[in-house]
Amino acid sequence: NRTPLIAGNWKMNLDHLQSIAFVQKLAWSLRDAKHDYSEVEVAVFPPFTDLRSVQTLVTADKLDLRYGGQDLSEHDSGAYTGEVSGAFLAALDCRYVIIGHSERRQYHGETDELIARKTVAALRHGLVPVVCVGETAEDLEKHGPSAVPVAQLGVVLAALEADADVVVAYEPVWAIGSGQAATPEQAQQVCGALRASIAEALGDEAAARTRILYGGSVKAANIAGFMKHKDVDGALVGGASLDVGEFASIARFP
Ligand code: 13P
Repeated sequence: NRTPLIAGNWKMNLDHLQSIAFVQKLAWSLRDAKHDYSEVEVAVFPPFTDLRSVQTLVTADKLDLRYGGQDLSEHDSGAYTGEVSGAFLAALDCRYVIIGHSERRQYHGETDELIARKTVAALRHGLVPVVCVGETAEDLEKHGPSAVPVAQLGVVLAALEADADVVVAYEPVWAIGSGQAATPEQAQQVCGALRASIAEALGDEAAARTRILYGGSVKAANIAGFMKHKDVDGALVGGASLDVGEFASIARFP
């Protein structure tokens, strides 16, 4: 009953003109393949400066594609130079927002506590947060496979109500942009542990309903292996989401 979600995190790639061409080609490619968006949901996460263009195109062409921001402020408005409010993302009809990506944690010093506050801010504005967790290679060696991601998610779960609508993305830092994806079995092990931690914090209903994605060097050639596992409900794709054909193939995994 969890609809798979294939999500493309563009990171800092494609300006607003390129975003229009890209989304148009992606929509055509999926239309030609008779893609059923109710069977596999597809979302893109462009830079903030592209979102208005993407909204205009999605609205004008009545596309079933979802989109969202790659981050948001914990605040709703005010003197926070350079920040973007969840209210503004909601006003652009964003469905989702990525929160706590490892690149935000690493380059912008985002802590679990800040990520929890951003998650609450997203929910306050009716956005579905895609909360990213994942261990570094060093964490993996020291603490084993699921301790760090489960601890990171735990801080966020402590701030949530049982009926919160969130997506979790497990992205091992060592697998991001490395070409070295986790094995499907590794992904299942951690996604299963994350689901158990949701059950413990928010109850069985929340655990059964919450989608957990795997991210880290996902491509058309390896997506099916991940999707075979019961606790993997989709993928957060970086590099491969910048190639229309490749990303469309990932969305066509079944
Ligand atoms: P890659 O797919 O390029 O490894 O990136 C994964 C990622 O960070 C998605 O958020």
